[in-house]
Amino acid sequence: MTFGEALRSGSDAFAAAGLDTPWLDALVLLSACAGRDKAAVYASFTDPVPEEAASAFRRAMGRRLEGVPVSYILGRKEFYGLSFQVDPRVLVPRPDTETLVEAALEILERDPAVRRLHDLCTGTGCVALAVAASLPRGRRLGISASDLSGDALEVFRLNSRGILGRELPHYRSDLLASVPGVYDMITANPPYITRRETAAMKASGWPEPALALDGGEDGLDVFRRLAGEAVESLTENGYLLVEGADDQADTMGEILTERGFRDLRWVRDLAGRRRVTVGRRGSGYV
Ligand code: GLN
Repeated sequence: MTFGEALRSGSDAFAAAGLDTPWLDALVLLSACAGRDKAAVYASFTDPVPEEAASAFRRAMGRRLEGVPVSYILGRKEFYGLSFQVDPRVLVPRPDTETLVEAALEILERDPAVRRLHDLCTGTGCVALAVAASLPRGRRLGISASDLSGDALEVFRLNSRGILGRELPHYRSDLLASVPGVYDMITANPPYITRRETAAMKASGWPEPALALDGGEDGLDVFRRLAGEAVESLTENGYLLVEGADDQADTMGEILTERGFRDLRWVRDLAGRRRVTVGRRGSGYV
């Protein structure tokens, strides 16, 4: 079997199974199984696939056809130019979440008063670690992270060591309940999928942890609690940056306003959707 034939057979099987990106999935898996980058796979179109790579590719195809995401098969996902370890204990980082990282970095660059950042619902740690890895030279910032899931924190630890060479401070905590201290910035990509959608995903055998997705009836249960707690854990003028869906952005703004946050704004993702709601803690508690 040549590389070209392997790609075509993989892609055909994935297309027949109704997968969204059959060619790309086949290319990424074949390239990983053969240990060659994508350009090298294309350049080897008429070469035979070595037997070991071919059998690894067949196994990978089988798992993909069972619905396992490509990133779980590879055990890695690229996010903000960094390679994260992923497995079914954590949500796979989404490109949309790079908007949250960029929004945080943009504030960190222009406001030197932000010296302590805490990332909630950290999962793989993609937000905390991407910010830590991308700080401008000389910018000092204390960064910590937390998650309700002890399983997720294990993946966070591996990524922190892998990407930064050290473990950032981290806590197992239901939102801010067990997170000590106060912060000048809090970031979060909390679960925000509606209960109905989560149920449909579960019924279809969705492989990611429901805990990382299910945001209750309207998807904003966790956000509501978070907005209330963040008031206590933010310094005056501290920033809260939370990811959500575009159709939740207005409600998220209203909830923050009710809690006494000000300077509300939204940061859009590459598709133009309001992906991150940003507010600053006012001086008065509400
Ligand atoms: N953006 C993710 C998705 O659409 C949801 C992530 C989350 O709930 N935090 O699958």
